[in-house]
Amino acid sequence: MHRKRILVTGGAGFLGSHLCDRLIAAGNEVICLDNFFTGSRDNIRHLLSHDLFDVVRHDVTQPIHLEVDEIYNLACPASPVHYQRDPVQTTKTSVHGAINVLDLARRLHVRVLQASTSEVYGDPEVHPQPESYWGKVNPTGFRSCYDEGKRCAETLFFDYNRQYQLEIKVARIFNTYGPRMQPDDGRVVSNFIVQALSGSPITIYGDGSQTRSFCYVSDLIDGLIRLMNTPEDVTGPINLGNPGEFTMLQLAELVVELTDSRSPIEFRPLPEDDPRQRQPEIERARTALGWAPSVALRDGLVETVSYFRSLLAQR
Ligand code: NAD
Ligand code: UDP
Repeated sequence: MHRKRILVTGGAGFLGSHLCDRLIAAGNEVICLDNFFTGSRDNIRHLLSHDLFDVVRHDVTQPIHLEVDEIYNLACPASPVHYQRDPVQTTKTSVHGAINVLDLARRLHVRVLQASTSEVYGDPEVHPQPESYWGKVNPTGFRSCYDEGKRCAETLFFDYNRQYQLEIKVARIFNTYGPRMQPDDGRVVSNFIVQALSGSPITIYGDGSQTRSFCYVSDLIDGLIRLMNTPEDVTGPINLGNPGEFTMLQLAELVVELTDSRSPIEFRPLPEDDPRQRQPEIERARTALGWAPSVALRDGLVETVSYFRSLLAQR
């Protein structure tokens, strides 16, 4: 078998580190490129001494000079708290980052996969969301740096494909959770679990009736790898997510139950432009990738709670 050398940008992040694990386990060489904005060395510490693994500290907004056979572009903060901290840098990461990654892929004549997002659908008026839906996104709000940055990155991917015949794959990832999310990441699953385990109030934004559909990390990584290995004419965009849809109130109750917590539930103001509902339509992934998620929310949460329990105990 020809061993591939694979570049994973954002490889020290939550999803990126799991992807590095899986690619190395399959016998590939992996270069993890990251500027450690939201990623952590702890996520990849177990790989640092591995012969097939290299880390490059680099910002994707700067040109990239490496020799690789395949590229997964995951670099970008994903939590609203982090992507809104330096919104100009967030847009640059998506847009300049896409250009640099695409230019590298073009120079090397290699495939490149973009980690896009369900945020391209904004606050959707179509439910569940099929890939054919163009979305309802505010271009000037607090979430725009992320949403519009990711939309523009998709545009760049499809234009490099049409204009330069570059082989592209675009995955629209819906809310994914699991071990290696940062405890202070700010996303709902890590927030609720850390709050429940430490006995502090569970913070529900708004009245908790907004919905999300949560995919466990192992399912998502499986989908990304399958997409990368599809025939050339499969470009996407392809939704990857778990169609099981829950309100934030239901999620809070489930986390309280699984942690045996006495934390009270506290309601906080709903952030601006917070999408009301979200559920992936995954027929395309089923057909093109033979993929569907297999881990139920309750089972994935049990794994994630156990991860955070030992992390908090170490601290
Ligand atoms: P994360 O924040 O844990 O990981 C992002 C990684 O990118 C971090 O390691 C960070 O340090 C790195 N990074 C950020 N800016 C960079 C830059 N300019 N140059 C180099 N590295 C940079 O987030 P995640 O959940 O692992 O998300 C990974 C990718 O998947 C992101 O592109 C995100 O938009 C996308 N995504 C994730 C989800 C999800 O629910 N987890 C949903 C939709 C899309
Ligand atoms: N949320 C919440 N409490 C928190 C963090 C988030 O109620 O402590 C809500 C948030 O308002 C949103 C949902 O949970 O409606 C998912 O938020 P997250 O930041 O995880 O992802 P995104 O909004 O990008 O889907």
